[in-house]
Amino acid sequence: MRRISMFGATGSIGESTFDLLMRQGGAAAFHTVALTGGRNVARLAEMARALRAEVAVTAYDDCLPDLRAALAGSGIAATAGPQALLEAADRPADWIMSAIVGAAGLAPGFHALRHGTTLALANKESLVTAGPLLMAEAARHGARILPVDSEHSAIFQALVGEDIAAVERIVLTASGGALRDWPLDRLARATVAEALAHPNWAMGQRITIDSASMFNKALEVIETREYFGVTPDQIEVIIHPESLIHSMVGYRDGAMMAHLGAADMRHAIGYALNWPERADLPVARLDFAALGQLTFRAPDEARYPALRLAREVMATRGLAGAAFNAAKEIALDHFIGGGIGFADMAAVVDATLAALSHRNSLGNAPMGLEDVLAMDHLARQEAGIAARAIGTRRAG
Ligand code: NAD
Ligand code: MG
Repeated sequence: MRRISMFGATGSIGESTFDLLMRQGGAAAFHTVALTGGRNVARLAEMARALRAEVAVTAYDDCLPDLRAALAGSGIAATAGPQALLEAADRPADWIMSAIVGAAGLAPGFHALRHGTTLALANKESLVTAGPLLMAEAARHGARILPVDSEHSAIFQALVGEDIAAVERIVLTASGGALRDWPLDRLARATVAEALAHPNWAMGQRITIDSASMFNKALEVIETREYFGVTPDQIEVIIHPESLIHSMVGYRDGAMMAHLGAADMRHAIGYALNWPERADLPVARLDFAALGQLTFRAPDEARYPALRLAREVMATRGLAGAAFNAAKEIALDHFIGGGIGFADMAAVVDATLAALSHRNSLGNAPMGLEDVLAMDHLARQEAGIAARAIGTRRAG
């Protein structure tokens, strides 16, 4: 039986993965090693019981008593905290879903690669913060990383049977998020609720807001570079409001291979779960006659400073991705908390990168995970200072 684990089981990607695992036979078809979550221990325990997991892990120590109580009599072990997450990652499994949100997902996935596992990677932050380290670690241990982000799954599928050297360009599609048609002056005053009204995809809160600001696409541009090894100038972004083309690969003979499908993450997750085979998946089928047309437009740089910042990060490389992601996470926290405005998020990231590039060598290649985590820590402090300064100016 295939041994599987899931990090971030209680999130949006986690729930979709759980749905597919249950449809494909649940505990009768998979041996579940570890499931991890955050504060929603009731749901975590329910999933662990359904899949008869060996261990359930909550990221938070104070949630452990509740998790233990919810698992009483099940024989499933309960543990808590960052160290317990790493221990769960050290339990051998054949397939691991990496679906924690944010830089917190990096270390568990990295640990899991040591065991030569197949890592289904939804946590794009891993590649943004530590792409070269992660890819090298996978190669060293004969582990495989399969992309789960819909764009990267699309590109991966458009590359099957092709030579990466024949690739001329990669075109990442972007929905444009909830605020894509707002006038610029109004955009700066968008609220959290407004940024959460995504037109096409149902996702976790953080990535939904990142879609509206295009910080999500900025992360994905970097993710593309790190995963597929193409150069930054080979990566383009196009706004495609229907979100039916999930991305495209252009070859040197001018051919474009596009991947289309319903906007349902169970496609990309199911592809990674069943790879290299294709299984029946419960996703809606496209009716082209009913659709009538697909539309595209160029992203406006003034509207999406995150895309420019991603280009700067790719030019610097080294630890710039770790700093960029951490600053973005802090800026997002401050926006959600009401301290800064929507447009201030990019200003916080910009200020953080500027401050760090004066004092630190952002371009230095990390020697190990510790260097990445140290930069993550530093950038969070710096971004906190920038966010509070912008928030104070705003209130004053
Ligand atoms: P989510 O917020 O819905 O779920 C996040 C999961 O991580 C939960 O289980 C939560 O308990 C856990 N978690 C949160 N903080 C943690 C911490 N500090 N330590 C340990 N666990 C923690 O997020 P999501 O939308 O499912 O996204 C998960 C990842 O997948 C992100 O990296 C996101 O960018 C990526 N992704 C998501 C989608 C989507 O459709 N939701 C699509 C593409 C990529
Ligand atoms: Mg995506």
